[in-house]
Amino acid sequence: MLTELKLGDMTVRGLSVGGIYTALHVPQFDLGLDVGLAPRTLAGVRTLLLTHGHVDHVGSLGTLLGIRALQGQRSPLRVIMPAEIVDAVQHSLEATSALQHWPLTIEAVGLRAGEETPLGSDLFVRAHQAFHLVPCLAYEVFRRVRKLHPSWVGRPGNEIARAREAGEDIFAVTERPELAYATDTLVSVLDHAPALFAAKTLIIEATFLDGRKSMEAVHAGCHIHLDELIARAEQFRNEHLVLMHFSQMYRPDEVNGILDARLPPALRQRTHALVPADNANWPG
Ligand SMILES: [Zn+2]
Ligand SMILES: [Zn+2]
Repeated sequence: MLTELKLGDMTVRGLSVGGIYTALHVPQFDLGLDVGLAPRTLAGVRTLLLTHGHVDHVGSLGTLLGIRALQGQRSPLRVIMPAEIVDAVQHSLEATSALQHWPLTIEAVGLRAGEETPLGSDLFVRAHQAFHLVPCLAYEVFRRVRKLHPSWVGRPGNEIARAREAGEDIFAVTERPELAYATDTLVSVLDHAPALFAAKTLIIEATFLDGRKSMEAVHAGCHIHLDELIARAEQFRNEHLVLMHFSQMYRPDEVNGILDARLPPALRQRTHALVPADNANWPG
C-alpha cells in the first residue's frame, strides 16, 4: 500500500495526500520526512525531519514512537523540527505518555532557517524558510566533502604528492546537495532558497494541478499550484523532481496524465508523482 519510487540510487517510500497524511522514508539517508501516518518502514529511522505542526504531518508521532518501543529500540528518535514547535511537540508527547503509562521520548532538535545540524559522517541537513499558515521549514540534505582545490586540478600527480608531503593545504571543502524537501508552503520557498533547485533530488508539494482550484484559494492555504512550478521550469537543475501532497480532489490515476499534458517535456522526463500506481483511490 506504500508508494515506492526508485530514483537512481535513492528510494523514496511512503504516502502523501494533502490535508490527509504525509509520511516518507528515505532509507539511503536513514531519514523520515514527516509523520502524518506511522508505516512500519519508518520505525527504524535514525532521524525524522518535521516540516511543521499540522496533524497531517505530525499527528502519528506518538504511534511511531510506540512501534519503536514495541520493537525494543532503546535510542530515542532524533526529531528535527522548527524551533517554534519544540515545546508543543514535547507537551503532546507528555500527554500521550500519560495515556500509555510509558514514556515516549525523543531527542528534539529545533532549527531556524539558515541553521544546520549533522546527520552522521559527512551528511548534514540545513533548514530553509518555508511559508505556511504555521511555522514551517524546508530542508536541504547535503554532503560536505573535501575536493582537490581548483587551482590544483590538472596538475601532475607527483607535484600534488610533493605539496601534500610539504603540508600544503591542497583541498577545498564543498557541499554536494543530495536531497531537498519542501511541502506546505507558498512557492516563494524556491525563490528564497535557490539551493533547492540544485539538489540531486527535490521532493516538493504540488497540491493543486489545474483549474479546479483558483490561484487565490491556493495562496490562501499557503500551497503550491503546478502552474507556479511550470513558471520556474528552467530553474530546476535536479536530476529527479518528486511531486507529492496532491489534493484528494484528484484521483491518483489521473495525476500522471495531468503532468504529461502540462509539464514541459524536458522537465516531465525527470518528474515523478508520488501516487499509488494505477489506483483510482488514495490508500485508506
Ligand atoms: Zn499538509
Ligand atoms: Zn500544513
